[in-house]
Amino acid sequence: MLFILFVSVIAVNRITMTHKVYLAFHFIMMLWPLGHFAIKLTDFPDVQLFFINLSFVALGMLGPGWLFFVFFLTNRSIQLKWSRIALYISPAVLCVAAALWNPDRLFMSSVRDNYMDRLYGPLFWVLVLVQFAYLFIAMMNMFHALKTVNSVNQKKQLATALIGMFVLTGFGLLDVLVNVLLSEWIPIIPGLLSSGILLSDLCFVFAIYRYGVFDILSMAQRDIIEHMTTGVIVVDENDKVLEVNRGATPLVQVTKGDTFEMEKFLAPLQVQGEVYEFLYRYNHHPYERLQMEFSLQENSGRHVSIQISPVLDNRRTLLGRIITFHDVSELRKLVVEMNRKNEALHERNLELISIQEELFRVNQKLEQMAVTDGLTGCYNRRYLMQQLEHEVLLNMRYQIPFAIFLFDIDHFKQINDKYGHLVGDEVIRSTANIVRSMLRRTDILARYGGEEFTVYLPHTNREQSELLAEKIMLAVGENLVDAGLDKVHITISMGVLSESSENLKINDPKEYLREVFASADSALYKAKNGGRNRVVMAR
Ligand code: GH3
Ligand code: MG
Ligand code: MG
Repeated sequence: MLFILFVSVIAVNRITMTHKVYLAFHFIMMLWPLGHFAIKLTDFPDVQLFFINLSFVALGMLGPGWLFFVFFLTNRSIQLKWSRIALYISPAVLCVAAALWNPDRLFMSSVRDNYMDRLYGPLFWVLVLVQFAYLFIAMMNMFHALKTVNSVNQKKQLATALIGMFVLTGFGLLDVLVNVLLSEWIPIIPGLLSSGILLSDLCFVFAIYRYGVFDILSMAQRDIIEHMTTGVIVVDENDKVLEVNRGATPLVQVTKGDTFEMEKFLAPLQVQGEVYEFLYRYNHHPYERLQMEFSLQENSGRHVSIQISPVLDNRRTLLGRIITFHDVSELRKLVVEMNRKNEALHERNLELISIQEELFRVNQKLEQMAVTDGLTGCYNRRYLMQQLEHEVLLNMRYQIPFAIFLFDIDHFKQINDKYGHLVGDEVIRSTANIVRSMLRRTDILARYGGEEFTVYLPHTNREQSELLAEKIMLAVGENLVDAGLDKVHITISMGVLSESSENLKINDPKEYLREVFASADSALYKAKNGGRNRVVMAR
C-alpha cells in the first residue's frame, strides 16, 4: 500500500523539491514494513539479519527524514545548508552505524539463532530515543509554523501533516511498549509501527491531494522567475548563488554554487552614478535596498538597472539577497528622445516667439504706415476722416465745441520752382513740425494733400480756435528754411471752421464732414484771395 501511495504521488503531482524530499522520506518509511515482512520469508539467519538491518536503517532515518520534510513543508528549506544538513543527520547516521555494527550485540541479539525473536540492547534504546528527539523537534517546528502561517490552505495542510506525525509517534510508542518492553508478558502484536507508518503516510498523501501541491506558490514563483526578462540572482549571506534565472545569464556568467562578486561584476562595466558609494553600501549595509544603473559597453545604448533587496526571515536575520537586473535601455532611449524633442520644441517655440514679435513690430509699422504720411509723419487724410466720423457724433451728443483748420502754404509752386523739390519737401516737413509743436496731444494734424494740411481740435471754442490759428500762422511766418545760401520764408493761409455743437444735428457724418470741409475750404479760398498769410473764420 505504501508503494502504491508512493507511485501515486509521483504520477499525479508535478514534482517539486518538497515532493522529492517527501518521496525520499516515504521510501525510507517503506523499508521498515518491507524488512519486517521479508524476515518472515526465510529461516537463514544471515538473510534475516540483512532484512532486519534494512528495517533498522529505515527506522534510524525516519527521524531526519521527518525533520527535513517538515523544513520543506514549512518553507524553511532555504535555511538548510550542507553543514547544517550534516549536523542534523549525524546522530541518526551514528545510530544506524551502531545498529549495523552491533558491537558485542549491544544493539540487538537473536534468540536461538533466529532473528524472528530479538533481544534489544542499550544501543537500540539510544536509537529509539534519538528518533523521538527528531520527532519532537519536527513537531515543534510544525507547531511554530502553524502559528505563523497565514494561508488557510497551508494551515490545513500543516494540520493534516501534524496529525500524521501524532499517529506515527503514537504507533511508535505503542510498538515499543507492547512489542519490546512488555513482550515477555503480552503476545507480540505484529505490524504496529508499519500500520502507524501507513496511517501517517495516508495523512500526508491526503494533505498533498486535498490541499494542492505542497508549495504551489513557490512553484509559480519559480516559473515566473525562470521566464521573466528581468535577471534574477539569489545569493545567500555569503554571496553564494542559490538561484540564477535565464534573464540574468546574458549579463552575469554565474551558476548555482558560484560566489557572486559585485566588485568583479561591476569592474568592466560603465557604471553611472556613485559606484564606490554603491559598493560600500553593498558590502557594509546588506540590510539596505540598493539601486543603480549602468550601461553596457561604450555607445552600445544598453542600460541596465541593478537592484539589491535583502531576504530576511521573521526574526529579521539576513538569509541572503535578491539581485535583479532590469534592462532600461528602451526607457533611457525614450527619455533621451523625449528630451531631444523637448529641446527642439523649445527652440522652435523661441523661434516662433521671435517671429511673432517681428510680426508684431511689422504690423505696428504697417498700421503706422497706413495712417500716417511718409514725408511729414502727420496722419493722412483717410485716417483723419475716419476719426472725425466718430468724433463729430461724440461732439454732437455731448455738445463739445470743436474746430477744423485748413491751411495751405502760399506760393509753394514758386518755392519748388526756385529751390527744387527737395527744398519744397523740407518746407512741407518743417511747416508740419512747427504746427505740430503748437498743438495738444488730443488734436489731430493731418496732411490733406500736397502742401495742404488740416487740424482737428476738440474742446475748442471759436475764440480759442481763432487765437490759436493766428498764433500758428505767425509761428510759421517766423520759420526760415535753409535752401543753400538762401533762407526760405514761408507763409500760410488758413480757413478756420468753429462748431459750438449746440443744437447740432448730424444724420450722415460723411455728408456733414463734406459740408464742414467745404466751408473750411471756402474760408481758405477767401484767405488766399484776401492776400494770403491770414486766417479767415468760416461762418
Ligand atoms: P497758392 O499760394 O495759391 O497756394 O499757390 P501755390 O503755388 O502754392 O499753388 P498750389 O497750392 O496750387 O501749388 C501746389 C504745388 O505744390 C503743386 C505741386 O507741384 C506742389 N506739390 C504738391 N505736393 C508736393 C510735395 O510733396 N513736394 C513738393 N516739393 N511739391 C509738392
Ligand atoms: Mg495748394
Ligand atoms: Mg499753396
